Amino acid sequence: MRIARYVVGDQIQFGAVELAADGGEHPDSVANLTSDPLAGPVNYTGERHLLSDVRLLAPVIPRSKVVGIGRNYAAHAAELGNVVPDEPLVFLKPNTSVIGPGEAIVRPATTSNLHYEGELAVVIGRICRDVPLDRVAEVIFGYTVANDVTARDLQNSDGQWTRAKGYDTFCPLGPWIVTHLTLDEVGDLEIRTRLDGALVQDSKTSLMVRDVATLVSYVSSFVTLLPGDVILTGTPAGVGPMTPGQHVEVEIDQIGTLDNVVVEDAGADS
Ligand code: MG
Repeated sequence: MRIARYVVGDQIQFGAVELAADGGEHPDSVANLTSDPLAGPVNYTGERHLLSDVRLLAPVIPRSKVVGIGRNYAAHAAELGNVVPDEPLVFLKPNTSVIGPGEAIVRPATTSNLHYEGELAVVIGRICRDVPLDRVAEVIFGYTVANDVTARDLQNSDGQWTRAKGYDTFCPLGPWIVTHLTLDEVGDLEIRTRLDGALVQDSKTSLMVRDVATLVSYVSSFVTLLPGDVILTGTPAGVGPMTPGQHVEVEIDQIGTLDNVVVEDAGADS
């Protein structure tokens, strides 16, 4: 199942996405659900809308945190002159950095080197702590696509990463959450980023240094994870700058494509 969150009319709704490519009877559409499936059991309301008639939002607003993982693809660590760390390198992005598909990434005036980082995102489904590797599947609600937007210059000059990765709009998520993939399946997906249509990242989740199960188990070893928390699993090689006016798309096979545009901070020149 693909769970989307969207505006139709003036209502925010959750729904199940059905794509014509699935071979079912419906065109690309969403079937409304009675409530947030992360909060409990849901039913269909019986209403359906064409996907083109709704505005998709971030499929989840993390209840407490977005946990980022740094340097989890060896080729990406190397391209920035770093080594793969002995332990997972963990940072936090505030939930206020989350935006949805189609929303604008705002480049703050404080950076002149804003980077895209296409990533697989894990959405946690239940409260958990100290999750053993063989039980990680039980705590995962599903997977979505993320762009771990990073002010590369601030990341280097600040010494720690809160500002460089924490500005409002620095965590696009979407287009929806896929709940049917197994851990084995998400361990072998192609991931690509395009900037104004040009392929800039082209990799596979199988190249992660530490896989999804290892990361979820590790993060849960020091922090309680809540339903709706999100873990970003690191970016592959090919990171680079994006500038106002550019479109950035992150695509993960079997999940979807997350599309955003970069804009200048409107207050920057006033
Ligand atoms: Mg990243």
